[in-house]
Formats: sequence, C-alpha cells, structure tokens
Amino acid sequence: MILIVDDTPENLISLKKVLEKHDFEVDTASSGEEALRKVLRNEYVLIILDVQMPGMDGFEVAEAISGYSKAKETAIIFLSAANTETRFITKGYSSGGLDYITKPVDMSVLLLKVKTFYRIYEQSRKLIEIQTALLEEIEFRKQAEYKKDEFISIASHELKTPLTSVKGYVQLLERSIDKGDVQTVKKHLLKAQTQLEKLNNLIADLLDISKIESGKLKFNKQNFYIGDLLKNLVEVMSHSFPDYKIVINGQVKSCIFGDEMRIEQVIINFLTNAIKYSPGTSEVVINVREENERIYLGVRDYGIGIAPEQQKSLFEKFYRVEETALHFQGLGIGLYISAEIIRRHGGTVGVQSTLGEGAEFYFEIPLISPPEID
Ligand code: ADP
Repeated sequence: MILIVDDTPENLISLKKVLEKHDFEVDTASSGEEALRKVLRNEYVLIILDVQMPGMDGFEVAEAISGYSKAKETAIIFLSAANTETRFITKGYSSGGLDYITKPVDMSVLLLKVKTFYRIYEQSRKLIEIQTALLEEIEFRKQAEYKKDEFISIASHELKTPLTSVKGYVQLLERSIDKGDVQTVKKHLLKAQTQLEKLNNLIADLLDISKIESGKLKFNKQNFYIGDLLKNLVEVMSHSFPDYKIVINGQVKSCIFGDEMRIEQVIINFLTNAIKYSPGTSEVVINVREENERIYLGVRDYGIGIAPEQQKSLFEKFYRVEETALHFQGLGIGLYISAEIIRRHGGTVGVQSTLGEGAEFYFEIPLISPPEID
C-alpha cells in the first residue's frame, strides 16, 4: 500500500486518483503527525511525502520513521516546491529507498518511480521470504540430525542390552552343561530365548521404519477372523506375562480383509505397551466390536496414563513422553509403525486417557480394507 502525505487536500485527491487508476492501493494523511500514527499501525511499501507542511515537515517525518523497525523496507519519495539538496533529505533515513520529485509533479515520472520502487520492494520481499525459508530448513535439518543422533544412541543401547544378556546366559549354559544340570540348562535356554525374541522384535521394528521411509512396507491382504487371532494372541501373551489377566470384551463375527500379521503386530504393540506402562496392576482389557462395517479394537490398561497435551504426539516417529522415558525402555517407534499399518488399512488410530488412570489405545478399520493405500 502507498501512503500519500500532503497538507493540501487537492494534491492528495489528484495523486490518489492517478495511483488508484493504475491499480495501486492508496492511503492518505494530511499531516506529518497523522502519517506517523498510520505508519505505526499499517505497513506501507512506499510513502509519498510532501516536504513543506505546517507542524512536522517531510524531513522530520522521514527521520522519525527511520526509527521504526516496521518501516525498514519502506521507500520514500519527497515532493517539494523547492529544489532541496538530497543530502539534507537523507539525513537520519538510511534504509529503504529514497527519491525526490519537484512540484508541480510530472505524473508520468512519478508513476515510473512508484512502479520501480514497487518492483524493488517485491524483489526484496521475495528474497526475505527465501532467506526465512532457508533458515527454517537449516534449523529443521539440525533438529532432525539431532533426533537421529539421539535415536542411534538409544537404539544401540536397546540392542546391546538383550545381546549382553544372551551372552551371559550362554556362558552360564556352558557351565550348567558341564555340570550336567538339565533343569538349569532349560531355565537359561528359556531366558536366552526371551532376550533373543526382544532382539528380533527390535530389529524388525527398525527394518519396518526403514521400509516406511522408503515406501517399501508391503501388505499381504487376505480374509481372516480377528476372533481367532485374538484367542491365540491372548494365550501366548498370558504365557509371557503370567502376572497379567488379559480379558477379551466383545466379539466380531465377520471376516476381515487385511494383512493378518500386520494387524497382529499392532495389537501386540498395544498390549505390550499396556503391560509395560502399567506397573503394579494386573489386568488389561481388549475391547472389540463391529460397527457400521468397521472394526473397533481398543486395548485398555489401568496404568500411568498420558496427559492431554502429549496425547496428540504419541503416534509421531521417535516420540516418547519425556517424564516417563527415563523409567521405561523403548525407542518411540512402535506406535508410529502401528499408525502407518492402520492407515494403510484405511483406518484410524487414537488414544483415550486420563493421567494416572490408564489408557485405551485403539484402532478402527473397515471390514474390507482398500487393496492398496499409499
Ligand atoms: P516406546 O514404548 O518404545 O517408547 P511407542 O511408540 O510404543 O514407543 O510409544 C510411544 C510413547 O507413548 C511411549 O514412550 C510412552 O510414553 C507412550 N505410551 C505408549 N503406550 C502407553 C500406555 N499404554 N500408557 C502410557 N503411555 C504410553
């Protein structure tokens, strides 16, 4: 927008008319003081400033404007009856463009100058935009880099823990075998197996992440019954977590078309989280039902729960609730992978929770999921 400052109303009107005829947006002020007030409130590309005005003259206005950071990019064209030297005009006004036109104003010259200043303004605005975008990109990359470093260090630690345990059990096994103590051999073998299973799951998760990133996570969709899947799963999980009672609440009779292994992976992730994040409790409930050609499956625990402000980030890659991350091991990728699997089944994931009272992580998918979603 252009601001014309002149104490003579006829000058204001005629200049405004010409500029508006050439599609410029125009504002006016009839004194230096009014101009300053307007500059504080609005943003102008250009100010056409009469020099001789009662009260503040044009030079004083320009000098005052030079102190406003808001008007840093604003150009000024002075209009004066007398041919004043430009070195007086530039006093105190160092940024933005400056020019000078004598009265009576030659409209074609004024228009040319206005157009030139506008072009310069547009170019510098674009440059500033590019600069801001570049700075944002640099900042974003730094943070990614930072998250990646942090992830690599956590991941290495997570991988090393079960590996060290397995090494320990193998050494103990060697001793027990030498002693011929079959009972202890069996015990150590079981423990080593559990740790290997952990290692296997971690590596599988890491592979899934890289598959998601490269768009190579493939699905093998077929018809299956979720009831059968749940029954088997609860049996196996109850074996691994004997302190927990896993209850199935509700049933689904219809057949689902989807990738059974991947859906099972999501439910296992919800269940292991439900158990991990509910120390001191002993029950986890799977709520399952069929509604409007869709399946709802929620895993309810009575554990630590999640504060409302953190709930929306839970399904993001690497996200872990900071307050609890120190007390529970994990990489912050399980829910991200789960969300991607459900998204690729045309469904949605979510959580309902009250801090300190547990959580219900759930997904909803259509009975017949679309064959392929990218
Ligand atoms: P991980 O458990 O390895 O950190 P996830 O992606 O499975 O990674 O979960 C992300 C975060 O969500 C966890 O770090 C935890 O803060 C929170 N979370 C997940 N499940 C639960 C739950 N049942 N109760 C409370 N917090 C949970």
